[in-house]
Amino acid sequence: MTDIEIAKGINLKPIGEIADSFGVSRDELELYGKYKAKLPLHLIDEEKVHRAKLILVSAISPTPAGEGKTTISIGLSQGLNRIGKKATVVLREPSLGPVFGIKGGATGGGYSQVLPMEDINLHFTGDFAAIEKAHNLLAAIIANNIQSKKNNIGLDPRTITWKRVMDMNDRSLRNIIVGLGGSSSGIPRESGFDITAASEVMAILCLASGLNDLKERLGNIFIGFTFDKKAIYARDLKANGAMAVLLKDAIKPNLVQTAEGTPAIIHGGPFANIAQGTNSVLATKMGLSYSEYVVTEAGFGFDLGAEKFLDIKCLSSGLSPHAVVLVATIRALKYHGKMPLADLKQPNLEALKAGFVNLEKHIENIKLFNICSVVAINRFVSDTDEEVDFLVDYCKHKGIQVSVADVWAKGGEGAIDLATKVVKTVELCNSRFIPLYDWEWTVEKKIETIAKKIYGAEAVDYTSKAKASLRKVYSLGLDKLPICMAKTQKSLSDNPELLGRPKDFIITVRDIEIAAGAGFIIPITGDIMRMPGLPEFPASESIDIDNDGNIIGLF
Ligand code: ADP
Ligand code: MG
Repeated sequence: MTDIEIAKGINLKPIGEIADSFGVSRDELELYGKYKAKLPLHLIDEEKVHRAKLILVSAISPTPAGEGKTTISIGLSQGLNRIGKKATVVLREPSLGPVFGIKGGATGGGYSQVLPMEDINLHFTGDFAAIEKAHNLLAAIIANNIQSKKNNIGLDPRTITWKRVMDMNDRSLRNIIVGLGGSSSGIPRESGFDITAASEVMAILCLASGLNDLKERLGNIFIGFTFDKKAIYARDLKANGAMAVLLKDAIKPNLVQTAEGTPAIIHGGPFANIAQGTNSVLATKMGLSYSEYVVTEAGFGFDLGAEKFLDIKCLSSGLSPHAVVLVATIRALKYHGKMPLADLKQPNLEALKAGFVNLEKHIENIKLFNICSVVAINRFVSDTDEEVDFLVDYCKHKGIQVSVADVWAKGGEGAIDLATKVVKTVELCNSRFIPLYDWEWTVEKKIETIAKKIYGAEAVDYTSKAKASLRKVYSLGLDKLPICMAKTQKSLSDNPELLGRPKDFIITVRDIEIAAGAGFIIPITGDIMRMPGLPEFPASESIDIDNDGNIIGLF
């Protein structure tokens, strides 16, 4: 059965019933139909936030075989509820682009899904649309200011890096020229579109602690320089108030349910390469306010999403995770052990053992943050018992806690052992999370620490362009911001070809970008895609709807 067929077979509870079990009065819900609601921010209770336990789900370096972080996160929250712990899963919102591109949504799979999955994967509660509008409002204000006579602040159009965004995979918009058509239609200049998930407004919304903080961060967005080299921010264009107005509902977390009718909060969806790759601070805090356990996910592997989750999101919001669940699959480990993608269904203990080094490095990295961990083996139908037993024994032999989870096929039932181990880990492990670096360090020292300790690099190299950008960071006084590395997720190094645990490599920083509003700086290593394209045969070709409104072909 496909995910949408399984989803269709589940009787959804009205969202009021989910609110009852979550512990919020039905009167507080801002309803978006029968099964979706927004939760007002005043429901967040800071005291309760710090009493609940936060579980971070991350993974080994991603492979085309797929790992299943979202599926495990949902399954684990269902498993925790089954063993009597009040648990909520808090996740990111999917982007529309990939829905019509490569098959696969971001709402989990099998009997570990968040529902209604079609809505969540499509327009949901309109948050992405609002973010897109807020972003594009600033773009329009900038263009208008350059054009204006009385209101012109002297922006040098060549220094403007703010583009437009749209939630669609459309490569032909990556690079465009705006302002064509004569003197009444703007000043011609190079620009382009990014996908909405890559917008700095998305990153900002997901780090904001409330409406005032949102407005302040929006005001801090760096726009460019005037002709006499004065830095211009969004606040100089008086753009942030109106942008915040457009985001007044988008800032509120969304309540939905899992396949087993337990509460799920889905909110925000920043990229995990050029941004922090995790749901909003407010959603996480909302979940923690009404749960004993919150399970949340950080994008890509532990080296990217989780490092940012810890050093950026946790530090800026005062959150602190109590355990990490590291997701691995037999197939992905064999791929790291140099087995070709097409052969991954064949048993191969040698390749499995060879690929284990990738898992081992991520476990070492978790220890650098002083957090206890459990490895979750996400079981696939093609895995043999021999391989699973081998991996379990190998983990135990290395002193790594491990659990086999079968949440895709069995839902929460398939995560009872994992849930039990997570609870035990949280109860027994009293080490406190410590960040990897101090925000006060120099930019170079922060980057070097991540590159050497987390990636295992020998050194960091800067291109001349990166050096120039570095000087700009210092001259703007933004050097005390945390680092948001933009790196391939496919490898621990900056070379996507190097699988397993690469050694003796250098990380090359090609440029450094500024996200002064979000509050981080982005060293760019390699080519980073901010506006994906559709594949040769897009998934959209098989998506359809019948006269009764039934959607087919969506995963
Ligand atoms: P991630 O969050 O790591 O990107 P997802 O949880 O979204 O991964 O899973 C990616 C895809 O793989 C989804 O379509 C999901 O249904 C599928 N999937 C995950 N785990 C399993 C499994 N154990 N068996 C079969 N399919 C799975
Ligand atoms: Mg995911």
